[in-house]
Amino acid sequence: MGTVTEVLITKRTGFCYGVREAIDHAKTAAAEGKLTHTLGQVVHNEGVVTELQAQGIRVVEALDDVERGAAVIIRAHGVAPAVLERAAARNLEVIDGTCSWVLQEHRELAKLVAEGYSIVLLGTPRHPEVIGMLGFAPDAIVVDEEEDWERIPRTKRMALISQSTQPPWKFEKLAAFLVGRCHELKIVNTVCPVTIRRQQDTVETARLVDLMVVVGGGNSANTKELTRLCRIVGTTAVQIEAARDLGDPGVFDGARIVGVTGGTSTPIEDLEAVARRIYELAGAPEVADRAEQLALAATASAFEPAYRTTSVDRPSRLAGAVQTAGAA
Ligand code: SF4
Repeated sequence: MGTVTEVLITKRTGFCYGVREAIDHAKTAAAEGKLTHTLGQVVHNEGVVTELQAQGIRVVEALDDVERGAAVIIRAHGVAPAVLERAAARNLEVIDGTCSWVLQEHRELAKLVAEGYSIVLLGTPRHPEVIGMLGFAPDAIVVDEEEDWERIPRTKRMALISQSTQPPWKFEKLAAFLVGRCHELKIVNTVCPVTIRRQQDTVETARLVDLMVVVGGGNSANTKELTRLCRIVGTTAVQIEAARDLGDPGVFDGARIVGVTGGTSTPIEDLEAVARRIYELAGAPEVADRAEQLALAATASAFEPAYRTTSVDRPSRLAGAVQTAGAA
């Protein structure tokens, strides 16, 4: 029999507003009867991609694959100006889902280039957001891990900027490193506040529980960072992509309270499914047979519409869950 009596889902989880709005753009276009394509997957999440496919929304990897007359959705990561120019040349209807925070990054980069700074961009080199940013500053040096940093040449005027989902500690450490690399250093902090809040909320949950389950893409930098932070505060953390990855009840041996959190591309429905799976797999006798109800209640407690960081579109179901949880 399992030992878990409670699963806590970290508050303000679910999609970040940028990802959610890009998905909404795609759904709206399809609902309006437009032949809708997304340039790359709007989110690396199997369930969401399947749901969009069911609405007739197709993923294309290049503008050349967009069918004549189709609307093409630019995802939250944004694209280089050359991509938009090419779409205009092909007379495509572009629905720009670039996140407002990423648009701000683009504006900042263009300004830094105009001001003549040598630009250092903290980011994952082949990440779509970074590729889009390089369209505004083609000469920027992209660095990621610390071992990369030594190749940044010394220069007189340098500017530091970041991919939105980089960890704040790394940005600060690189800024300190660059002080010794130039005469004038301009720092433009573009680490996204949603990423920062997600990390703070996750640490808060990790401190309350015996074990953390972190849900997100295996390659997602912001998901890996959440796992790392849980471990830093001394809580064992397992990282998975979805509920189906939980098969061994032994993982939860001795754990009474389990926390669940997710990256900015993980829908809150996936966290609910993980919570349900934990109750089913490792729940103590008094909770195991109420897995679905308790998982829904955990989701309801995490749901904060004011922050617009969730994809939940079922307020009445959640309201019911809150009442049920209160009565339990
Ligand atoms: S993480 Fe922040 S910047 Fe990136 S898409 Fe989400 S809201 Fe926008």
